[in-house]
Amino acid sequence: MNKIIEVTNLRKNYDSLTAVKDISFYVEQGKLFSYLGPNGAGKSTTIDILCTFLDFSGGEVYIDGLDLRRHSQAIRKIIGVVFQDSILDDLLTVRENLTLRAGLYTSDKTEIRNAVYEAVQTTELGEIIDRPYGKLSGGQRRRADIARALVHKPKILFLDEPTTGLDPQTRKSIWNTIKQLQSKNGMTVFLTTHYMEEAAESDYVIVIDHGEIAAKGTPAELKTRYSSDTVRLFASDEAGLRQLLHDQKLDFTMSAGEFVVKLPDTMSAIPVLENCQTCISGFQVLQGTMDDAFIGITGKELRE
Ligand code: ADP
Repeated sequence: MNKIIEVTNLRKNYDSLTAVKDISFYVEQGKLFSYLGPNGAGKSTTIDILCTFLDFSGGEVYIDGLDLRRHSQAIRKIIGVVFQDSILDDLLTVRENLTLRAGLYTSDKTEIRNAVYEAVQTTELGEIIDRPYGKLSGGQRRRADIARALVHKPKILFLDEPTTGLDPQTRKSIWNTIKQLQSKNGMTVFLTTHYMEEAAESDYVIVIDHGEIAAKGTPAELKTRYSSDTVRLFASDEAGLRQLLHDQKLDFTMSAGEFVVKLPDTMSAIPVLENCQTCISGFQVLQGTMDDAFIGITGKELRE
């Protein structure tokens, strides 16, 4: 396993406020890594530090074996960054924007042309390559932003909320492109996101809250640890059902004739249903979700 990003005791103070408090984690090469947290948790601060845009107050960061304090120039060459706000020139075409960008890394015209071609192919921008960036739709702009981050063939792609503000269909298609970059091209992807369905598809998730790591693990591990499966019982005999649940010493809540019973796992619903069947008219077994896990970890909804 190659740790392409290694962060040890990272700290960032803004005057008296400590936005990031001695956090440590690593990212494995070639993985899709999600960095989640409620607003103000310290996500942008962390990503800005890793991308060399922001100085830090303490700790160590190594990117692809390079010390961030001493080798920020070299690190910039191996990372691609997609910001929340677009930074391409509205008046230039996609091709012109990408060519300018590629020209920062090499003066070889063939190399530049090939790099632009590859980035455009990967992001499926071929048909609109000669359209001005300012005339593109939101989703096309996002693709062009990603293409810009890819022209120098980075090893790691940082994406700060890449799909925020896009309609659901466009979001899905951009998300598919990001997934492909990782699965087909073997790129390491580090992203912050507001969408739990995206985090749920990543290889590893870190949740930060108040500048500290509140939880980490694969989506499956986080679901198991921080959310529970439940069975909803629709009562035909409310008093009888309440008594039966009490007798089985089950943890439940009740409102409007509906009882929600927490389960250690989905299969545990079977004995509960068998024991309660005389007092119910129906039931529903629900598996814990990443949304539940996030609320379990931070006490908040991700998109609050
Ligand atoms: P997130 O990206 O998770 O929303 P941020 O990293 O932007 O969180 O912010 C973390 C904390 O640091 C917040 O309390 C925020 O107000 C504060 N903060 C962020 N940038 C600055 C800054 N330039 N100066 C002072 N405080 C800042």
